[in-house]
This record gives sequence, C-alpha cells and structure tokens, in this order.
Amino acid sequence: MKTCILSPTQILEKTDDSIINSVEKTVKETIEKYNLITQTDKVIVAVSGGKDSTTLLHILNKLGYKIEAFTVDVHIGCYTEQNLANVKQLCEKESVKLHVFSFRKTYGHSICHARDTLNSKGVNVNSCTVCGVMRRRMFNIIAKKTGATKMATGHNLDDEAQSILMNIFKNRTTLNARISPLQQLKNTDMVPRIKPLFFVTEDEIIQYSKARKFFVHYGRCPCSVTSLRSAVRDFLNECKQLNPNATQNIMNFFMKNKQHFCKKQHKEIQTCANCGQPTVSLTCRTCELLQQIKMPAQSI
Ligand code: SF4
Ligand SMILES: [Zn+2]
Repeated sequence: MKTCILSPTQILEKTDDSIINSVEKTVKETIEKYNLITQTDKVIVAVSGGKDSTTLLHILNKLGYKIEAFTVDVHIGCYTEQNLANVKQLCEKESVKLHVFSFRKTYGHSICHARDTLNSKGVNVNSCTVCGVMRRRMFNIIAKKTGATKMATGHNLDDEAQSILMNIFKNRTTLNARISPLQQLKNTDMVPRIKPLFFVTEDEIIQYSKARKFFVHYGRCPCSVTSLRSAVRDFLNECKQLNPNATQNIMNFFMKNKQHFCKKQHKEIQTCANCGQPTVSLTCRTCELLQQIKMPAQSI
C-alpha cells in the first residue's frame, strides 16, 4: 500500500469534499492494512467531545462497523461539561449507544483534588499523569465490561510523533515498541487497542471536523499546560512552522526503523497484585497512586 501520509501543504489547498475523501480513505486503508477491525468485532470507541474522537466515531460508523461509545467524565469544570454535552449530542445523531463513566465516582475524587492531595504528600505529579494513568486503568475495565473485542481511541499522527519524542526525552525508548495502530499486549487479557487515525495529521483532522461541521471544542484542556506533552506539542508546532512535514517525517523515520529501535523489547507485562490490571511492576501505577493518596478504588 502507498504511504498514508499527506503533507499539510497539500491539505491546505483541499476543498471540503477532498479533505473528507482523503481522511476517510486514509482511515479505511489503515484499518485494512493493519487488520484493525473485522466484521465480527464489537468496537468500543473512547470519545471525549473533541475533534479527534468525534471524527473517529463518525468514520467508523459510516464504514458500518459494530460500535458503541464511552466517555469518562473527568470533572474539569465547564470544559468537561461542554464536552459531555457534545458527546451526548454526537451519539444521539449517529445513533450509537453511549456509556458514561465518572472519574470521581470511580476514585472518590476529581483529578485536581487527587493531584493536590498527592502534591501535599510530596508526590510530584501533574494533572495529566494522574488523569492518564488512572483513566487508562478505567479504559481496560470498561472495554471488558461492555463486551468489546476492540477499543478504538482517537490518537492522531501528531499525538504519536509527540509520544516518540517524549519517550526519547525520558530515556524510555523501549516504550516506543508499543507505538503502533494496533496495540495488543502479550500475556494479558487486555482488549486490543486500535488507533485508526494513526496516519492522519492533526491539521487534517481539524479541517475534516470543520468541513463536517462537527459541534466540538477545539481548545486545549485547561489542565494540560503543565504537562511534558504540552511542551513537546508546542515544540513540534514551532518545527512545523519551519518545515510543515516535521511530524510526518518523524513518523516515517520511526516506522521505517521501528524494528531496529525496538529490538530490545519493553518489560514483560504482568498483572497487578492488587487489582489484576496489566502492569510492568508488582502493582500498577494507579494502585501506587491510590496507596499514596490513601483512597480505595471503587468499582466502576
Ligand atoms: S490534558 Fe491532561 S488533564 Fe486534560 S484530559 Fe488530557 S490527560 Fe487529562
Ligand atoms: Zn492495580
């Protein structure tokens, strides 16, 4: 198959119809090339009310796959209230069943409160670490609870290029072995994760979402300002001012050389001694954080 990647320069010249066709074609080709979804799969789509997951849900639905959606309300004021309203409207319009879960109900506190409590106990974590780690655990449980055989997330090419750089910055390059449109962890019963937007750039998704007139929030999460991802995203956006193909080139280089970089695989996946979720240590990071914060995890 030819490369899925288009340059933003080409994209900027596209009409509404052509951006719609090219994004949908790239997603379809990615699904087929990586065998992400079969006709017997039940796919649970993680939706947030943002442009990426809205685009993902719409395209998977249009392609006729058997899908349901879920969202985790992380209680970040007006930002999540508006997103939740958008998600409900989207699923109603697309006639897709929506499951709503609450971070606060599951863990007993909002993200900001959990972060503040951890910080006050000397644990230096930002909102995105708390949110990312603890939501990831919820995702695994939700996928099984809904009987899904695949879980789809709206990660785009820019997100993945950021992850590659972040792993390099943190000297955790073996984690790059997991960067792929299909993430299927060996020795676990984790529902495989798929990323059908893996080869679609953020610029393309913005244009697609606007062409489709999706009712979504284009701004950033107010809690993202302190994260490393946010700093890397800003850095890459600056690079794209100088070279519009910067993120595509990072991804092309990575995909071509992935086997070489990822020879030394990441640690074996085990199950957390406390909650049974996948982890590389004795206990998972969520259980570690909960222990530090001294709050028991409730069932979802
Ligand atoms: S930006 Fe950070 S805090 Fe906000 S939703 Fe994403 S991971 Fe959570
Ligand atoms: Zn655990």
